[in-house]
Amino acid sequence: MEQARAWIQSASTVVALTGAGISAESGIPTFRGAGGLWRSFRPEELATPEAFARDPKLVWEWYLWRRGLIARAEPNPGHYALARLEQRAPRFLLVTQNVDGLHERAGSRAVLKLHGDIWEVRCTGCGAEQRDERLSFDRMPPRCTCGGLLRPAVVWFGELLPARVWQEAERAVAEAELLLVVGTSALVYPAASLVPLAKRSGARVIEVNLEPTPYSEWLDCSLRGKAGELLPRLIS
Ligand code: NAD
Ligand code: ZN
Repeated sequence: MEQARAWIQSASTVVALTGAGISAESGIPTFRGAGGLWRSFRPEELATPEAFARDPKLVWEWYLWRRGLIARAEPNPGHYALARLEQRAPRFLLVTQNVDGLHERAGSRAVLKLHGDIWEVRCTGCGAEQRDERLSFDRMPPRCTCGGLLRPAVVWFGELLPARVWQEAERAVAEAELLLVVGTSALVYPAASLVPLAKRSGARVIEVNLEPTPYSEWLDCSLRGKAGELLPRLIS
């Protein structure tokens, strides 16, 4: 713990990579942990282009349920600690797999959203993207003014990440002196490949997770515990 604190304090270029685990203490279920089920569907059956093509109304009902949870949730001490780190580190970027917007609500500004934003929609017809914070729609599934179906502007299983976003994440990680990996199972690719990229590029890597991950053993430091408890101690 003391060593990790010192590394964080002295690094001039820091990247934090976060996953669903950092929002778990805000009451937002992870996909793989308990609570990830909705009406007995697994997220892998809903967060896919095939599921949306088959039953867009069902997929939207799930997203509206998640929007409701997120709207009622508050950032937790883990989100706030990362917002403080951004103020202190000479160069800092937060790369998140989360779509909930809690990092921004906690005050983080340099946020790269790998998997999009649950509060944005994209038209499957004309491609237009816009912010949309509605918790219900008059007509389901919702449609664009052009008549096309609207979808959540998030990256689903089996879809590619936007090229520019991914390039920016790779560049930042390759240049980082320190990578702080928080609440991610390191199972979802390509996001998980940022961890070995950091090691290959000579960065120190610190992990904060409730459980061991495939990378835990060969990282510089793997801290087992809740992000909302450990991050405020790491970043005072
Ligand atoms: P994930 O693969 O990132 O796994 C969650 C990880 O968090 C697990 O390793 C678990 O051990 C850890 N964890 C759980 N509670 C924790 C805590 N309090 N402190 C520290 N670590 C904790 O996430 P997933 O749920 O498998 O999701 C897969 C994809 O869906 C990712 O893109 C994910 O970010 C996204 N997703 C986003 C949200 C969100 O925006 N809040 C919620 C669910 C899923
Ligand atoms: Zn349209």
